[in-house]
Amino acid sequence: MSETPRLAGDPELRGGGSRVVGPTTLFIGGLGRSGTTILELSLATDPRVVSLGEVTHLWRRSLLDNETCGCSLGFHDCPFWTQVGQRAFGGWQAVDPERVIALKRRLDRSIQTPRYGLGLVSRSARADVSEYASYYTRIYRAAAEITGASVVIDSSKQASLPHLLRADETLDLRVLHCVRDSRAVAYSWTKTVSRPESQSERHATMVRYPPPLTAAKWVQHNLVVEGLRPRGVPVLRVRYEDWAKLPRAEVTRALAFAGLKEQPNDRLGDDWVNLGPSHTCSGNPARFRHGFIQVRTDERWRSKLPQTTQRLVVGISLPLLAAYGYLGRRT
Ligand SMILES: [Zn+2]
Repeated sequence: MSETPRLAGDPELRGGGSRVVGPTTLFIGGLGRSGTTILELSLATDPRVVSLGEVTHLWRRSLLDNETCGCSLGFHDCPFWTQVGQRAFGGWQAVDPERVIALKRRLDRSIQTPRYGLGLVSRSARADVSEYASYYTRIYRAAAEITGASVVIDSSKQASLPHLLRADETLDLRVLHCVRDSRAVAYSWTKTVSRPESQSERHATMVRYPPPLTAAKWVQHNLVVEGLRPRGVPVLRVRYEDWAKLPRAEVTRALAFAGLKEQPNDRLGDDWVNLGPSHTCSGNPARFRHGFIQVRTDERWRSKLPQTTQRLVVGISLPLLAAYGYLGRRT
């Protein structure tokens, strides 16, 4: 009888012999438009943290399309990313982005995660998973070594990715599960947001979804994150609304989860944050914001999203919306 193939990093295969060599990688998971960009940048006000943006998009948007880094330079002109490529791969020319994109299309999908969770992966697919995960983990390690940071943030959000990153048993992987009221997220996905970093389209905009589709995606993405807990991945849930009320307290809580003790930070207050420039390779255009920002909860959806649509979104996302504390009281 043949043994059931499992992912290389599966705890069942570790046998207590694996050795975590870091760095601590804080993966931000959840559905986009949940306030994750500003949360990521506020975490990076701590000098022990380096934020990389949405690394999942690096292969096409950065390597192939040379989109703008958070520092406002094109990806291939950014000294930080040039160093990362050199350290991780001996130069970006050694990476075949089409190969990584093909692996991503095949492996990095929400629908595949139950199979990964059960360890039902063929031997050849297991090799592909290890290869795919290694592109990311080499980047995380290179970024930590170059900057001296203890914590590296990947805000890719696509939660099938941390399921695959488990293939590297030496990675100290922790997931920050960012949630926001599904009605607010649904409203946000109806808005037109420009993508100034695009080099291929002059008036590029972010994708828009109708509210019922956003609600369905909200449920799906959050369930995929929840699926990490039983697989032994540490997960901390952060609600956008709580961060917006007390940014310093929520950032302190998230950094403690990443193993960093509280220390003075003059760039973060009880209701404000002073954002510095970053080298986020991709993500929401909000990553280009620098300087002092007064933080307040954005509740425009309450008046802008029609009541019937709000009820529909609640209906689709009800169990998780209740579990996350969004019903029965004003958050
Ligand atoms: Zn840069």
